[in-house]
Amino acid sequence: MASSHVVHRTMSAFAMEPKGTMTKSPGISFPNEDLTMAERKLADLFYDTLKDIYCAERQILKSLPKMAKAAHSEDLKTAFLAHSDETEGQIERLQQIFEIFGKRAQAKTCEAIRGILEEDEEIIENYKDSAALDAGLLAAGQAVEHYEISRYGTLKTWATRLGLKDAATLLDQNLKEEKKTDVLLSKLAEPSINAEAA
Ligand code: FE
Ligand code: FE
Ligand code: FE
Repeated sequence: MASSHVVHRTMSAFAMEPKGTMTKSPGISFPNEDLTMAERKLADLFYDTLKDIYCAERQILKSLPKMAKAAHSEDLKTAFLAHSDETEGQIERLQQIFEIFGKRAQAKTCEAIRGILEEDEEIIENYKDSAALDAGLLAAGQAVEHYEISRYGTLKTWATRLGLKDAATLLDQNLKEEKKTDVLLSKLAEPSINAEAA
């Protein structure tokens, strides 16, 4: 329905928070009368999920150099390091989205990425002298990218629904980098890295 009223809304509507007012969601409140109750709830969810991916990206930034160091293949090392640089830019984009809200960036523990990265460490530990190490690292790397693709796809859709155009653009830039990395890792997997492991 009425998508026209969505378009003109800007982030400023989200940035205002009445001083000294207790709100149900500690992250953000929505004084804007334009928002329906359902949209206010979606905005809360958007903000919580933004904190989740912000936490995830910071964990990933710490992990990528370790994965690069562990990898045997030069191509895989290069891919992990290049994505580590990209991840710094992604974190900056997320910080810009928080700024649009008039907030400092905040992280909320992402248990999913913590779990995936733990599996990653297990692979490094159990396969460090094995020809299958790179295949395992590559698979772990793709699990991370797929989580990110899922998150950014959702966040972009929600931002668009909420009329947060600038946020949607920034989220789309991150989404595109994750997809590109996923494709690159797939190309490294076949035929070379998996064949070496077999
Ligand atoms: Fe990322
Ligand atoms: Fe998460
Ligand atoms: Fe990524």
